Amino acid sequence: MDKKRNYSKKREAILAALRSTDCHPTAEWLYRTLKSQYPDLSLGTVYRNLAQFREEGLIISVGVVNGQERFDANVRPHAHFICSRCGAVIDVPGVFVSGGEVARAARRAGLQVESCEIVLHGVCTACLEKQAQRAEKPGPKSSAGKSPRSVRR
Ligand SMILES: [Zn+2]
Ligand SMILES: [Zn+2]
Repeated sequence: MDKKRNYSKKREAILAALRSTDCHPTAEWLYRTLKSQYPDLSLGTVYRNLAQFREEGLIISVGVVNGQERFDANVRPHAHFICSRCGAVIDVPGVFVSGGEVARAARRAGLQVESCEIVLHGVCTACLEKQAQRAEKPGPKSSAGKSPRSVRR
């Protein structure tokens, strides 16, 4: 009995942690965040619960970024932006996409549409700022980006 209560407490904690952030965390992030509070929590438990939440429609998977699956407790249809430099997954603000046009085209082709996800790829604001800061500094003269070990004859 007690074991079961403990289990549902962890389940609640995992869901709450996921709902408290918009960083689209990995299972490992959730594990690290909750480990101090629940010392007997295992990564396997986190994965199991995430799979269950998905089945219940409480969360969605955003997909795999840099080899790790990312999760989102915001299940309303919205577009994602994934930074190709740092791997940040960011909600595109203000738009709730239905993908109506694409879905219609798919249906015309005889396909049964169940969901639509829109993912944009590019460079996030933080990475762009870092890049701008680097550009301001008069860095070393390695303009061409060629290997410094030039071949001599
Ligand atoms: Zn970035
Ligand atoms: Zn999201």
